[in-house]
Amino acid sequence: MAAGSAIQIPTRLPLLLTHESVLLPGSTMRTSVDSPRNMQLVRSRLLKGTSLRSTIIGVIPNTSDPTSDCDDLPNLHRIGTAALAVQVVGSNWPKPHYTLLVTGLCRFQILQLLKEKPYPVAEVQQLDRLEQFTNGHKSEEELGELSEQFYKYAVQLVEMLDMSVPAVAKLRRLLDNLPREALPDILTSIIRTTNQEKLQILDAVRLEERFKMTIPLLVRQIEGLKLLQKTRKSKQDDDKRVVAIRPNRRITHGRITEDEEEEEDHDDVVMLEKKIRTSSMSEQALKVCLKEIKRLKKMPQSMPEYALTRNYLELMVELPWNKSTKDRLEIRAARIVLDNDHYAMEKLKKRVLEYLAVRQLKNNLKGPILCFVGPPGVGKTSVGRSIAKTLGREFHRIALGGVCDQSDIRGHRRTYVGSMPGRIINGLKTVGVNNPVFLLDEVDKLAKSLQGDPAAALLEVLDPEQNHSFTDHYLNVAFDLSQVLFIATANTTATIPPALLDRMEVIQVPGYTQEEKIEIAHRHLIPKQLELHGLTPQQIQIPQVTTLGIITRYTREAGVRALDRKLGAICRAVAVKVAEGQHKEAKPDRAEVGEGEDCKEHITEDAKPESISDTADLALPPEMPILIDFHALKDILGPPMYDMEVSERLNQPGVAIGLAWTPLGGEIMFVEASRMDGEGQLTLTGQLGDVMKESAHLAISWLRSNAKRYQLTNASGSFDLLDNTDIHLHFPAGAVTKDGPSAGVTIVTCLASLFSGRLVCSDVAMTGEITLRGLVLPVGGIKDKVLAAHRAGLKRIIIPQRNEKDLEEIAAHVRQDLTFVLAGCLDEVLNAAFDGGFAVKARLEHFNSKL
Ligand code: ADP
Repeated sequence: MAAGSAIQIPTRLPLLLTHESVLLPGSTMRTSVDSPRNMQLVRSRLLKGTSLRSTIIGVIPNTSDPTSDCDDLPNLHRIGTAALAVQVVGSNWPKPHYTLLVTGLCRFQILQLLKEKPYPVAEVQQLDRLEQFTNGHKSEEELGELSEQFYKYAVQLVEMLDMSVPAVAKLRRLLDNLPREALPDILTSIIRTTNQEKLQILDAVRLEERFKMTIPLLVRQIEGLKLLQKTRKSKQDDDKRVVAIRPNRRITHGRITEDEEEEEDHDDVVMLEKKIRTSSMSEQALKVCLKEIKRLKKMPQSMPEYALTRNYLELMVELPWNKSTKDRLEIRAARIVLDNDHYAMEKLKKRVLEYLAVRQLKNNLKGPILCFVGPPGVGKTSVGRSIAKTLGREFHRIALGGVCDQSDIRGHRRTYVGSMPGRIINGLKTVGVNNPVFLLDEVDKLAKSLQGDPAAALLEVLDPEQNHSFTDHYLNVAFDLSQVLFIATANTTATIPPALLDRMEVIQVPGYTQEEKIEIAHRHLIPKQLELHGLTPQQIQIPQVTTLGIITRYTREAGVRALDRKLGAICRAVAVKVAEGQHKEAKPDRAEVGEGEDCKEHITEDAKPESISDTADLALPPEMPILIDFHALKDILGPPMYDMEVSERLNQPGVAIGLAWTPLGGEIMFVEASRMDGEGQLTLTGQLGDVMKESAHLAISWLRSNAKRYQLTNASGSFDLLDNTDIHLHFPAGAVTKDGPSAGVTIVTCLASLFSGRLVCSDVAMTGEITLRGLVLPVGGIKDKVLAAHRAGLKRIIIPQRNEKDLEEIAAHVRQDLTFVLAGCLDEVLNAAFDGGFAVKARLEHFNSKL
């Protein structure tokens, strides 16, 4: 490829700074891109999704110290080569980087740097033009003489090489076909030259100067070759990979010269072949690998495909085709491990043990995939880890949240730029055995996109009938996944694709009660946090009341993750105190600050350091153990985040508390209503789904038809509640979409309160679907809802009569704290929701009229 007059480069170019090599016009170079600046350039200028958007970029040799390539832009070399990006290959190993294949077009000079960040862009002037070649200062003859001389040396050099190598023969032809002016650049880039020499050639803008500088390089190369031919006659160069012509250099200053590096590379390929032959891969895989290695041997190293093929073969060798860990399953030991690692969750543990027992007896893994469904932080992942521990297997977690491309699961075909294997094969490579426990985390958050449905790919992975020959697109040969134990987790089954759900056995993991949380904190979380922060129980003491305080006033969650974080914050604060005590003279080190919320905690704590240890003097060691009481809690964690707001919000008519179920666990939900003059319209706000809206209409219709019975009137005293009246119903926490029929009873109660002017009892919560005739139908998620009500300190809970059986699942101590009202119809609901009942006035009226 020659620099010619036809080439017109843009006047603004993004600049790629290269350390290790100098690109000259007419040559092609592969360069590794890993500095943030260059990576940014590749991402935003060269890539469009996963395909290459060919763009001309400026390649500037970075002459400054490579180690100083941090934030500031180094002084730029003024002359560079405009280049066409031909290929980009991305890889994440050993660190994220791209390999860029660029072809040099022509020289340019930087006129002005236009911007530095995120990657430099400069205004440039094109230097190599054909006119320039002929309009030089020297006469044409002189240049002609120089170029003739150069051409002769070039021919001599090429003819010394093995002409049977196709690349050499091609080079010979090129010498005749290319314009002479392009030869110095091209030959300089293929003969052995240092970067410094290449840089000088790049800087030689005048053609005559360029010829003059390259001739000695050619002569040196010819001499070197002559010597090589003499000394290594017997060991003639049979290495067909070598296109570059290199003289023989011995070890200088103890460093290995490039010749040896090349030999090493060759050795590597031989080693790789040996590894392939001795590996235990399947017959089909072996066949493919041997074919690929044959191709690799013939391929010049500079070809981008060389790296791709090599990476592929290395992965194939590394995969655990036949390597597995030995299962050591003993049900009694498994029970002990599960009990030791997790408090409570009896139902889950029981089911897991059953599952393991069946595996032990049947000795194979065919069967449904376990799927743990529950709110975050209830220990789903952690149980998965324990299962791996009991089986003595490796554990690997694959996060599926947000995965929307089936190549994520099944890999990219090798023809794609940046192709790589999918997560399953990657996971196997990471664990190094073919029978790990794979935890497919958050299967409910798989997304769909134009790139195919990842759920469909997962189906093949999870189906025991198919997964013994799972074919990843990258590998393109089958891999046996039948020994892998898959466990899935999700927050809700509603969004798991039905076909996937069908392959799984769902085990519900509900949230914890306060008592369970306290136990979990003291048995597991606190000891873990103490160890993590280098503290001992002799240094810190957290009484149970404090833990309860954290649970009720600083967290509101079904699981224990926020609780764990808060305990971590306490440990950090105490660690500072302890460290201060130990190093009285040394300046206290408080640099270690965690995430946002913890910063606040530290600042508060720093402001009043004496509050934990009850001593104002920082230099004095605090009394051990440091007791975390409510006072200390407030200092470390700040003022309580959740107060018992329930009673305050129920101090006027038209408010009732409902119980809702969300993927994050149960929650209490306030329903508010107000009325105003209008034309009988109903307004609903608070992000409601269709079912919820229907419930609201049902509730109003039922109340209107029963208004007389309950003496409910609108502002003007009419029993037609919507006469000249508008009603507005609001479900606070508007950002969360709410749907489902279970708010029916709450809406009725709330409206009944509004129209009767009576307050709903402040400690009552309710859930249930309603019918037009006033019946209360059963709903789901009772356990989570009851726990949420219990967490919020409510005392009486109205649930549908037909949900009575669900109460058995609730721990006895929670049941003790609560009164349950089992309602079969709305009359019963209203009677339980208002102090003194919501008496039906009909009989009284009847009685009055008799008088
Ligand atoms: P999930 O996967 O359900 O979101 P994790 O498994 O990540 O939750 O659990 C969060 C943390 O809570 C972990 O550190 C885990 O050890 C702890 N944890 C949760 N439940 C229990 C339990 N029953 N006993 C002991 N630790 C628990």
